[in-house]
Amino acid sequence: MSQQQARRPGEIAVEHPQASDAWLQYIGRIHTPWPRREDCPRQGGLDGPECQIEVFQPWDQALVGLELRSALEVLYWLDQSRRDLVLQCPKGRDHPVGTFALRSPVRPNPIGSSVVELMGVEGQLLRVRGLDCLDGTPLLDLKPARSAFMTNPGT
Ligand code: SAM
Repeated sequence: MSQQQARRPGEIAVEHPQASDAWLQYIGRIHTPWPRREDCPRQGGLDGPECQIEVFQPWDQALVGLELRSALEVLYWLDQSRRDLVLQCPKGRDHPVGTFALRSPVRPNPIGSSVVELMGVEGQLLRVRGLDCLDGTPLLDLKPARSAFMTNPGT
C-alpha cells in the first residue's frame, strides 16, 4: 500500500482510512456567488469573480508552498449532477453527443476541473479566480497547473 511507504525527512502524514474501492473524501468546500446552476458560467475564466476555496483540517497543512499568482488546478465533485447519461443533448446542439465527448457536469463520476489563479491565502481559505461551480461544491484536490501563467510547477 502506498500509505505504508517510507516518509522522506520533513514529510507529515495524517490518519487516512483504508478502502477497497476508489474511495474519495471531500477535503474542502468551494464558495462562489452562484446558488443556481443556470447562474454559473459554463467554464470559468480568469476575468470571473473572486471565489473562495475552504480547505478542511487536516488538509490545510498541505497548503504550504503555494505561490500567489500561480495557476492551480482545482478538482471538485459536481454533487448536483445526474450520473446516468451516456448520450446527452447540450444546449445549442441538434443531436445527442456521447458523455465522453463533452465537459458536461453529467458523467458517471462527476469530477469537474478548472485552472484558477491564486489571488491570496488566508489560513484555510484560498482566494481564486477562474471557477464555474455552484456555491458549496465539494473540493476533491488541488495541484499546480501545467499552464502558460504558472510560475513554479510542482512535480
Ligand atoms: N470546468 C469544469 C470542467 O470542465 O470539468 C466544469 C464544467 S461544467 C460545464 C460547469 C457547469 O456545471 C456549470 O455551468 C453548472 O451548470 C454545472 N455545475 C456547477 N456546479 C455544479 C455542481 N456542484 N453540481 C452539478 N452541476 C454543477
